[in-house]
Amino acid sequence: MSVSVPCLFIVIPCYNEEAVVGGTADVLTELLEEMVKQGQVSADSRMVFVDDGSKDGTWEEILRCAKKCPWAEGIALQRNVGQQNALYAGLMEVRKRCDAAVSLDADLQDDPSLIPAMVRQFCAGNDVVYAVRKSRRGEGAGKRGTAWLFYRILGWMGADMPRDCGDFRLLSRKALEELSCFHEHNPFLRGLIPLLGLPSSILYFERRPRRAGKSKYSLGKMLALAVQAVTSLTAWPVYLVFWLGTGLALPSVAWLVWLLLIRQEGIGEKVLFASLWAAAGLLLLGIGIIGLYSVRIWQEVSGRPRYRIRERIFPSGYFWHEKTKRN
Ligand code: UDP
Ligand code: MG
Repeated sequence: MSVSVPCLFIVIPCYNEEAVVGGTADVLTELLEEMVKQGQVSADSRMVFVDDGSKDGTWEEILRCAKKCPWAEGIALQRNVGQQNALYAGLMEVRKRCDAAVSLDADLQDDPSLIPAMVRQFCAGNDVVYAVRKSRRGEGAGKRGTAWLFYRILGWMGADMPRDCGDFRLLSRKALEELSCFHEHNPFLRGLIPLLGLPSSILYFERRPRRAGKSKYSLGKMLALAVQAVTSLTAWPVYLVFWLGTGLALPSVAWLVWLLLIRQEGIGEKVLFASLWAAAGLLLLGIGIIGLYSVRIWQEVSGRPRYRIRERIFPSGYFWHEKTKRN
């Protein structure tokens, strides 16, 4: 879709980000003002901070920004639902009010100076504009290594998504509307968006170090995201376990039959124990993987809301306490 002067919303999920929200709002205010002056986006463009159940003073910071800055809005979720759900909540809440929405991390590791180029790509007819990381400055070797492995493994499993793209991207209103038709409980947005099949383009940028604070992606949250990604995009692990089980079971049964037939003696105790443990381990692994998919099915059929909104703040300090809107 091409719009002459589009209305742009920037959606920023925040979890315990009191140290960065104020600075991020200042940077984005300057950017939006400049873009409006240049006639790139309309004056009703906004930045929307989504407080993902923070335990620190993030919501107070968002309220402060919204009161002093005419571009800032805030949405507070009832509890921490994770970055993907928080981002999805923000995108769904703004989709009827904008022509395009850019999602951005609160710590400005995603370079906001790329946004004007993203809007140009949108005006040229792209419904999705991915911002792909050329480098990941300021991140430790552990984080870079796990991220590298994460995208490669998903690629090998056949997931169709640009590598190293993160959640810094522009989505047109059309893309947001189509995304709203996906009713998954734990949406893995990076994997779902390519499934929309809309015209897209890729821009490259250098990922910067965090402005302040520490990463909110603990090892536990990273592993949860990886499981969410794999179980949402592919049934490949189930097939792997199935074929592994088949490959293991067939020769061992044949071997057992052969042993029984020739009545050979003296199978070492250690070998017996080792094979017992290996078999038990594989069995548990298989049950575990099937369990992961079952949990997803259970989450989907239980039909629980993906997020609930506690309060909202609009520019100029207009405050709206919403009795837990659900989606
Ligand atoms: N985030 C969130 N909910 C969470 C964890 C993270 O909304 O449960 C937000 C966080 O505040 C940030 C973005 O998601 O804006 C990315 O998180 P972070 O910068 O900690 O991840 P990293 O860049 O280290 O992968
Ligand atoms: Mg970050």
